[in-house]
Amino acid sequence: SEKIKKDYEKTSNEISTSLVIGNGVMGKGIIWLLSKYLKQTRIKLRNLDKAQNIIGDVAKLYDYFLKSRKMTQAQVDLKLSSLSYTQNFDGLKNIDLAIEAIVENKEQKEELLKKLESCMKDDAIIASNTSSISIEELSKNLQRKENFMGIHFFNPVNKMPLVEIIPNSKTSKKSINTVKQSLIKMGKMPIVVGDCAGFLVNRILLPYLNEAAFILEEGSNITTIDKVLKDFGMPMGPFTLADNVGIDIGYHVSKILNESYGQRMPISNVLIKIYEQKLFGKKSKKGFYDYT
Ligand code: NAD
Repeated sequence: SEKIKKDYEKTSNEISTSLVIGNGVMGKGIIWLLSKYLKQTRIKLRNLDKAQNIIGDVAKLYDYFLKSRKMTQAQVDLKLSSLSYTQNFDGLKNIDLAIEAIVENKEQKEELLKKLESCMKDDAIIASNTSSISIEELSKNLQRKENFMGIHFFNPVNKMPLVEIIPNSKTSKKSINTVKQSLIKMGKMPIVVGDCAGFLVNRILLPYLNEAAFILEEGSNITTIDKVLKDFGMPMGPFTLADNVGIDIGYHVSKILNESYGQRMPISNVLIKIYEQKLFGKKSKKGFYDYT
């Protein structure tokens, strides 16, 4: 009804333009999602030489829609044409939402967030896709804390419906609603969670992956454990999942959970060893399994 529409307008804004900073595994997935649903998405690059590779990888995420005839090539091309590049921070005044997915480093993220705040309009929403850094901490040097939050996507972004929204203590209801409504329109399932180490999902997922590795240390084997958990109903076994997520990511998040929750969340020696050998899973062609 008209009243519901008016109430909704009072408590949320429409997001139609966006900016993504960081073009790794997560950044490209996020660019794809925003290209599919928003009018315009700008990609902040450090080096313009990478532009064609990035667009190629984002285009691949439309393959499923082409093959299943859910979209035509012309429709995909139109979506891809909504992407533009910038090497500097100029011309960002019309952006409604910026999401950073750069390296998991607090100082680098803080510096970037401050810079974004100084270049964007007052009511722009700025978000971090951090897996493990406190959103309250990241908000400390920002002037407009009410417009800042964590938006934590899961890998692969094009397949995983759940998205965690992590407000800081000053994030406004309007900003949260704006992001929540936009994500719902993008077919995602947003949940608002507290700002604690591991947020919600990783706090449950990483102890599960580490426990599988402890069972391995006790003398079982990778394929048996994966098969049992798959038979139980998981979409894939824990070691296959760890290789997909990335052993480096799994190790870093486990370390943070261990530092925050102590003996409740120990890291298995197997995970430490495989991380130290730089066997990072699928992305490095070797992890618990060999993909060469
Ligand atoms: P990645 O290493 O694949 O990509 C990081 C990208 O950021 C690279 O393209 C790199 O060139 C760029 N970059 C690094 N420092 C930068 C800087 N100072 N300015 C601009 N660009 C910079 O990493 P990823 O797996 O995509 O993770 C990115 C973020 O998303 C991290 O905060 C991570 O914790 C989080 N995250 C990762 C996952 C996952 O499963 N991989 C899931 C959820 C959240």
